[in-house]
Amino acid sequence: MSEIIIGIDLGTTNSEVAVVRDGQAHVIAIDGANILPSMVGISDDGHLLVGNAARNQYTLYPERTVRSVKRRMGEDTRLEMGDKSYTPQEISALILRRLKEAAETHLGESIAKAVITVPAYFSDAQRQATRDAGELAGLEVVRIINEPTAAALAYEAENQEAKNILVYDLGGGTFDVSVVRMNQGVTEVLASHGNNHLGGDDFDAKLVEHVLAHLRDTADVDPSDNHAAMARIIRACETAKIALSDAPFARIEEEYLLEQDGKPVNLSLELERVQYEEMIAGYIDETLEAVHTTLKGAEMAVSDISEVLLVGGATRTPTIQQRLEKTMGMQPRSDVDPDLCVAVGAAIQAAVIAGDQVSSVLVDITPYTFGTSAIGELNGEYYPYKYVPVIRKNTPIPVTKSEAFATVQDGQSAIDVHVYQGEDPDALNNTELGSFHIEGLSDVPAGNIIVMRFALDLNGILNVSAQEKRTGLEKQITIDNATARFEKQEFDAARDRISALMGDTSGAESHSDDETNERREAVQARALIEKAEKLMETANPDDKEDLVNLIETLQDSLANNDIQTMERAVAELSDVVYYLES
Ligand code: AMP
Repeated sequence: MSEIIIGIDLGTTNSEVAVVRDGQAHVIAIDGANILPSMVGISDDGHLLVGNAARNQYTLYPERTVRSVKRRMGEDTRLEMGDKSYTPQEISALILRRLKEAAETHLGESIAKAVITVPAYFSDAQRQATRDAGELAGLEVVRIINEPTAAALAYEAENQEAKNILVYDLGGGTFDVSVVRMNQGVTEVLASHGNNHLGGDDFDAKLVEHVLAHLRDTADVDPSDNHAAMARIIRACETAKIALSDAPFARIEEEYLLEQDGKPVNLSLELERVQYEEMIAGYIDETLEAVHTTLKGAEMAVSDISEVLLVGGATRTPTIQQRLEKTMGMQPRSDVDPDLCVAVGAAIQAAVIAGDQVSSVLVDITPYTFGTSAIGELNGEYYPYKYVPVIRKNTPIPVTKSEAFATVQDGQSAIDVHVYQGEDPDALNNTELGSFHIEGLSDVPAGNIIVMRFALDLNGILNVSAQEKRTGLEKQITIDNATARFEKQEFDAARDRISALMGDTSGAESHSDDETNERREAVQARALIEKAEKLMETANPDDKEDLVNLIETLQDSLANNDIQTMERAVAELSDVVYYLES
């Protein structure tokens, strides 16, 4: 076997190491995790701390701990750590040495060579400093490669086709967006843009501000100068932020946060995803502007890009994925873990240099989107079966995601939950996998929150639950083989193929698009009638008359199968319903 070269992502917040063995890239665990915090410190008894141990002491002893050394690479400076000072290369070498040791323990042999990644914008001096750090750690740096290049390699190890790829990288403290061109094994960065001081830490800071305001308002305390309390708040906020990526609510609970007049102050605060999304919206706007600047720099339009790749832990934030999808007109990919894909790409580059065969990265992903339906708007009209995707296709599994829904009627005591597989914005055009009824909901005004939770495991078993948030009342369904089913379109195509094979053109049930549309419109019309009838109870006499007339027209058109009249009446009645509801 050829000599081993490891791949290292030496990051601002975290670092990772990976290696290719038997054609597959593996990330090497350090202290039981895939990620090593890029922090170095000296303990109170003079011991060297690297990674989590240094991170743990940072808030209490910042003078003995160095973080974000990557920002200082290439500078002629010394960083204080305890009573001594060190160059940025020396501090980085300590991180690299820890990664090298982890690889040696994992592989059972000594390692002498590495490929290390750096941001595309790094200057020659910064690249040289990174090389020097490697040499200090006992590693020959066989190549320095750009981070977006590494990310593209992680996704496209075997691809030979010409492709333009946009890499959106939002980590803990830095943001970069790059356009990478791949062609016959050659990968180059065409343009890159970003902000060296923007990342998930800023999102945490927004939440911390929110918590401090809450403590001021409710307990009249300000813990800003209390290091220990602040350390707990910052951690709790990061944990809540991460939870909000998969759930619509998160609770921050910190008992005995501090003492005020001899009494304990406990923190208990619920955060809503929508509220958090508002707090960080300005940051996301900035990153999307950078996307356009980068495209301009590469002299490309959105339509020239064939893949969007997500890199960096903060890209797990759903609003980032949604807004980027809207901007780029395609679902961004995050199937290779965004925290690890740069290290994986570095390992792939290392294997290529060592002359090893490399296969594409293997990840278990769901090939389908799963979701439910809710009342909403479709093509500008009221529609009761609007599809709401919950787990998107290409998401790594196992995965659990939840979304909040609200009841629409006062005193609504029950809801029907439908589970679908598919992509169509109209749920009725997707494949229904199952449904259930949850009843006994509280007698409260409309807006009662129901949290729907979708959990998909490696065996394709999908568990869907609906829970009334205020009481915990829950009902659920388990669907086996959820990922083994056909999409509706695939099913139709398969049925046509089988019919063709059997020489049977008449046997298959006819299922023209027109017929599906008619069925859908009738369902929509009936639901609208039901809704309008409820509104009649509270409408004024004039509106009531309008409602009665339109409902009659609609009922007649349904009975006579008069599609044209039905469409017109649905449009008019939708308008009245909207007017009365708003
Ligand atoms: P990186 O520097 O790429 O390791 O990214 C670290 C940043 O990603 C930190 O700010 C983390 O809090 C953030 N992060 C990690 N996981 C998630 C998640 N599931 N949702 C949102 N942010 C996350």
